[in-house]
Amino acid sequence: MSTAATNTKAMWMPFTANRDFKKKPRVISGASGHHYTTTDGTKLYDMFSGLWTSGVGHCHPKIVEAVQQQVATLDLSMGFQISNDKAFALADRITASAPDGIEYCFFTNSGSEAVDTALKMALGYHRARGEGNRTRLIGRERGYHGVNFGGMSVGGMAPNRKIFSANLIPGVDHMQHTMGPDYVPFTRGQPEHGANLADDLERIAALHDGGNIAAVIVEPVSGSSGILPPPVGYLQRLRDICDRHGILLIFDEVITAFGRLGEPFAAQRFGVTPDIITTAKGLTNGVIPMGAVLVRDSVHDAFMQGPDQMIEFFHGYTYSGHPVAAAAGLAAMDIYDDEGIFEQSRSLEGTFADILHSFADHRLVTDVRNFGLMGGIDLAPRDGAPGARGMEAHKKCFWDEQLVVRNGGDILQFSPFLNSNVDEMQQSFEKVRRVLDSIE
Ligand code: PLP
Repeated sequence: MSTAATNTKAMWMPFTANRDFKKKPRVISGASGHHYTTTDGTKLYDMFSGLWTSGVGHCHPKIVEAVQQQVATLDLSMGFQISNDKAFALADRITASAPDGIEYCFFTNSGSEAVDTALKMALGYHRARGEGNRTRLIGRERGYHGVNFGGMSVGGMAPNRKIFSANLIPGVDHMQHTMGPDYVPFTRGQPEHGANLADDLERIAALHDGGNIAAVIVEPVSGSSGILPPPVGYLQRLRDICDRHGILLIFDEVITAFGRLGEPFAAQRFGVTPDIITTAKGLTNGVIPMGAVLVRDSVHDAFMQGPDQMIEFFHGYTYSGHPVAAAAGLAAMDIYDDEGIFEQSRSLEGTFADILHSFADHRLVTDVRNFGLMGGIDLAPRDGAPGARGMEAHKKCFWDEQLVVRNGGDILQFSPFLNSNVDEMQQSFEKVRRVLDSIE
């Protein structure tokens, strides 16, 4: 397969090895259902459902129609001081499926913006309640919360922070990540041991005084750093410690919301309700960029004071609640309900886990982790060339097997469609095995 010539010079690609890519570009020009099409017409199976985004498949006709209709009816309304019908409808819809007590929704355009919005809300909440001293923010090692300054600061992925080290926001600490000393490689689903890793928050609270901490942010299952499911009881323990110290708990559900764990939100899957949830990706099935921050009524209500004509939260984006994105979101919510997508996702988990863990016997594989429809296979790094083996696997899957998988360094990551067909899933992993067999 070759992709027909495309001039790739001008675009500086995000999170991509640009020079390597441009030697032999991998360019997509079409998609339908579970497949992409390249510029030369080759069909590829998408084993990453977009970028964790497109759970119901590409170009779903109901979303296409909703977007086409909306763009011809109301392309944009000013979002400050007035707004549009679709944004209100979507806010209603999302909060209706959120855990009890989460009643308000603030729109952004991306996950990164949702995270920075959530952090600002946390600071504003405490200040509004007369606890303006609560300014510290706590993240976690190996956490990913996007690339804006707030998210990067609470994030714990070293390469994303390295060149900005002196410019990260002050007053941030990190808990240790959840692959602690007790972690047993090839654990299926949640590790049994490790709830005590949450006590690292107590250590930080003791150091700074818990009364100075505004919020803790974690991904319920870390995604981008390689699929790290929380140990059993860990999230509840974090919740308890936050409650003891009056700290807000933020779940970054940019990946885990909207069915990836077989429920609307990971909060419901784990039975732990945070104070704030950040989302994006599956909110519109990835069709139009959109993020949202969902908050408890108590967080929202704390801002609602002062003269009525005053803006309560000086924050927002030109495109917050964009009507075309909101129309895509409403169509996505309809599909989730009408086609039983979350139930389908849940029913695929066992097969997905079986297939992934069958790689435990492979000579290159050092660990396999999974939860919901999130999966990671760690490859032994090549001597002196970290990431090279993962990249080779990604490219061979693309060129030799017409399969899109993601590599984060030497970790192969999988995000199957929420409505995957089991045969297609099995065939895709046969391809992955052929690729791994062919790699030195
Ligand atoms: N938070 C998490 C958990 C993510 O996985 C991501 C992106 O993958 C983000 C935030 C950032 O989202 P975006 O790329 O839409 O800014």
